[in-house]
Amino acid sequence: MGIVDKVAERCTCARTPKGAVLVKDNRIIATGYIGSVAGQPHCDEAGHQMVDGHCVRTIHAETNAIAQAARHGISTDGATCYTTVLPCSNCLKLLINSGVIRVVYKEYYAPQPGDSKETSHAEIGRIALDCATDLEAQGKFKLERWMP
Ligand SMILES: [Zn+2]
Ligand SMILES: [Zn+2]
Repeated sequence: MGIVDKVAERCTCARTPKGAVLVKDNRIIATGYIGSVAGQPHCDEAGHQMVDGHCVRTIHAETNAIAQAARHGISTDGATCYTTVLPCSNCLKLLINSGVIRVVYKEYYAPQPGDSKETSHAEIGRIALDCATDLEAQGKFKLERWMP
């Protein structure tokens, strides 16, 4: 998983080490990992902020990657997002409206109770969702050559 895994290592909420990398024209334009809002305490130091079994202190990796692109004035239109797991529905909505056309995630992980791979994929018609592990099983993808 290369860079996505490296980015995920920077997460400040150890519950869920996940990274996201935005790629356009074979170039990395932004990266994101799960972390607190700038200037706010990190889960590492202040503990998690749990609501319904999820830590809500942090911003998700995909959202942070889009925020990083926005901050630096980089267009995400037409980009592909490589992520550790299938993005939650809120991040997917944001990715779609940011012009991201494809998500390649390493593993499936139910973002919210009741979500399934089928419903997540079916709900979102405007973005291509590919599970790298599934693609590899079909011989269409090589995880060891995963770039990023
Ligand atoms: Zn946390
Ligand atoms: Zn999310």
